[in-house]
Amino acid sequence: MKKPIATPSRTKEILDTYELFAKKNYGQNFLTEPSVVEKIARNAIINDHCVVFEIGPGIGALTQYLCEYAKEVVCFEIDSRLPEVLKDTLSEYDNVTVILQDFLEIDLKEWVKKYQDQGMDVVIAANLPYYITTPILFKIFESEADIKAITVMMQKEVADRFNAQVNTKEYNALSIVTQYRCDVRSVMKVPKNVFNPKPNVDSAVLQFTFHKKEDSINEQVFFEMVKACFKQRRKTILNNFSEYCNDKEKAKQYLMDAKIDEKRRAESLTLDEFKQLYEVIKNVNPSECKN
Ligand code: SAM
Repeated sequence: MKKPIATPSRTKEILDTYELFAKKNYGQNFLTEPSVVEKIARNAIINDHCVVFEIGPGIGALTQYLCEYAKEVVCFEIDSRLPEVLKDTLSEYDNVTVILQDFLEIDLKEWVKKYQDQGMDVVIAANLPYYITTPILFKIFESEADIKAITVMMQKEVADRFNAQVNTKEYNALSIVTQYRCDVRSVMKVPKNVFNPKPNVDSAVLQFTFHKKEDSINEQVFFEMVKACFKQRRKTILNNFSEYCNDKEKAKQYLMDAKIDEKRRAESLTLDEFKQLYEVIKNVNPSECKN
């Protein structure tokens, strides 16, 4: 590598040369600390036959390290000013492709298949644009594409919710839905002072790896049930679940069948307990429950 892009001086030099300013509406905060991008890249690349899909390369701070360590890198960038800049800042690499497209619009399954057919494993890495962290992750989770690992930076508070444990204030429907699908591992915390411009909050890097799909669970029904149980956090599970079932007596019975005390709150239920409750209601006449 000639010189890292992720330093305060090199970032400023690139921004000045191209008369670039960070676009707030695209969530642009460029990383200026090489040890952070290096750590994300090293964690993201899980073997020697990986292609990395990077969401939002910016001016190439993380891309550069991904190019060093991965067989191939494919970047999806929404900002039409940046492909020209990246051509220059990544000129020393011939294993990178930049696609000017909104990641939310791409056919992820098709892209994954293209590289899988060439014998490569697909992983995802990003310093995510914070304004669309959840839509991007849910696009990946719901794509059913065979992605081996997702290593991404996001606002620390959002990371805390994805990774939250039962009986904490961060634990919510998002935690359950995510942990149902994935193992979530905390890679590192990142202070707000290593970005240009500096965001208002600290960040964290998480790694998600998928569990094997459980064929016996209808995910749409399961996720709706979980969301309904968290609808009003301060209410008991009986209150929220009664609303979902349209019937308090039936809700009581289902909770009893699932061996869940009706006075508990959703935030005290483990993923396995939600699955128990789903098992009880899954064969109920749909008109009895709001699903
Ligand atoms: N990776 C660079 C870094 O770490 O310095 C930039 C990260 S910056 C937080 C987010 C990047 O995502 C920006 O380059 C922004 O233009 C891009 N971006 C925002 N929304 C996007 C979308 N929907 N699809 C693809 N890229 C997007």
